[in-house]
Amino acid sequence: MPELPEVETTRRGLDPHTAGCRIVAVHVYDRRLRWPVPETLPGNAVGRIIDRIDRRSKYLLFRLGEDTLLVHFGMTGSLRLWNSPPTRRAHDHIDIVLDSGATLRYHDPRRFGAMLWVPAPADAHPLLASLGPEPLSPGFNADYLWHAMRQRNAAIKLTLMDSHVVVGIGNIYANESLFRAGIRPTTAARRVSRRRLARLVDEVRSTLTDALAKGGSTLRDYVDSTGKPGYFQLDYFVYGRAGLPCRVCGGTIKAIRQAGRATSYCPCCQR
Ligand SMILES: [Zn+2]
Repeated sequence: MPELPEVETTRRGLDPHTAGCRIVAVHVYDRRLRWPVPETLPGNAVGRIIDRIDRRSKYLLFRLGEDTLLVHFGMTGSLRLWNSPPTRRAHDHIDIVLDSGATLRYHDPRRFGAMLWVPAPADAHPLLASLGPEPLSPGFNADYLWHAMRQRNAAIKLTLMDSHVVVGIGNIYANESLFRAGIRPTTAARRVSRRRLARLVDEVRSTLTDALAKGGSTLRDYVDSTGKPGYFQLDYFVYGRAGLPCRVCGGTIKAIRQAGRATSYCPCCQR
């Protein structure tokens, strides 16, 4: 599943090639994504100029004047830009043709993604309105997290993955950030001290920044490439390492499930 670093890297890969381009055609071959692609979307989008691509949580926001084209990749979605598009493959569901001659092509085998038209003000859209701060923004800081966590009895890992608290921290980055911060994932959020939450903020940032740095080397893969979407394999400390020795203390990484998701942690390093 594309996580925040993959979505942000897609944005960085595509933005320089799409900003300032006018949309001249939109071909929807299969509307059946997580929500049906609106039949009015081509009519709304054609003729409009892409000012820039923003990102909020794991949504890409194509800014077209006052309006926004919202794209989400779901489980398996991806966008590629083709200067000269090849023959469509299976699961190529949408083509957005630009006046530069290039085509943005949306590919999604499992069709859990989305492409929606969002009139201004985009921030008021139900998918965006209740989102917490971006993890790499100044609004995500020790003070903020301490206040947010004080009201929550849920385990810290689940709270960290709650998009009302902070957006874009999926299972991989929650596991890794908690290891780096030395916090056991099952601890009740409200019981974690402010000092330890400050450390957690730093570790969330550095974990995501490390993944983005890996993604930087894949930027060219977003143009004229059939390459699968990049998944930036960090040298994980705990994620996917249940039963293996901890890279720090040599103890055994333990696996449990929380809210149906795999959690792994080191009982020695995380307290
Ligand atoms: Zn350890």
